[in-house]
Amino acid sequence: MRQTTKIINRLDKMIEDAINGTFVESGYDETELSRLESRFHQYLAIKETTEEKIEAERAAIKSLVSDISHQTKTPLANVLLYAQLLEEQCTDEALNPYVRQIRVQAEKLQFLIQSLVKLSRLESGMVESNPISQSVELLIEGAVEGARGRAKTKQIAMEVKGDVHMSALYDLRWTLEALGNLLDNAIKYSPAGSTVTVSVRSYEMFVCISVEDKGCGIPEQEQAQIFERFYRGTNAMDEEGNGIGLYFTRMILQKEQGYIKVDSKMGQGSCFQVFLKRI
Ligand code: ADP
Repeated sequence: MRQTTKIINRLDKMIEDAINGTFVESGYDETELSRLESRFHQYLAIKETTEEKIEAERAAIKSLVSDISHQTKTPLANVLLYAQLLEEQCTDEALNPYVRQIRVQAEKLQFLIQSLVKLSRLESGMVESNPISQSVELLIEGAVEGARGRAKTKQIAMEVKGDVHMSALYDLRWTLEALGNLLDNAIKYSPAGSTVTVSVRSYEMFVCISVEDKGCGIPEQEQAQIFERFYRGTNAMDEEGNGIGLYFTRMILQKEQGYIKVDSKMGQGSCFQVFLKRI
């Protein structure tokens, strides 16, 4: 009994020292416990090396992202500027479509680089998501307002249902981006004249915000893939996009302990449900 208590106390001390970062191997003897202590020391050394490697990789990504964003900013802005000037001054009808394409493609490239930089900053922890418990009203109003222009162009009506005063855990800036992506998609993949509905429902652990459209729908076999980076559905070929939106949306929600689900039927529409934690 005394022996067992002694072993437990020593193990407890080893763990305590490991937590405090003060673990040192005591003198080696032939006991099983001493062998265990030695293995534990090895494990801590490997763990430390792995953590150092991860930290070094994170720092490398950080500087690569800053370099890309810094080095491409000026040349791209110049390409855009000259393409716009060309477009304004080009009097040759036959050349107009080419000049326009240069501008459109440069704008796409700029959007893609900006999205990748944002994504990588969030992924590597360079920018933080700071979720706090707050009413979802600001979030829904902001996202709907942000998408109103695009909806209007396509004569799509937007309606909001449910109690928007419920509180959930989220970072306003990032979650606006996540919900904005869902609204943009709902508008993009829906026919002109249809309706996009945003509704709020409360569950015991989560507040659910759903974005429902009457658009083209997503084939069942693609419904898991659409959240992958750069994945574009077979239904998306006629639409602009780069396949980053849903990947980004899911990552933002994960950072605030939320999640996203999709339910969709081909030819009938899609419903994306965002679950934000309640506290
Ligand atoms: P993008 O729209 O730029 O292609 P996303 O990551 O936002 O990229 O979406 C990935 C894919 O999911 C889209 O290419 C499309 O196939 C599908 N998708 C997303 N939202 C909808 C929607 N509301 N209705 C139909 N398909 C959708």
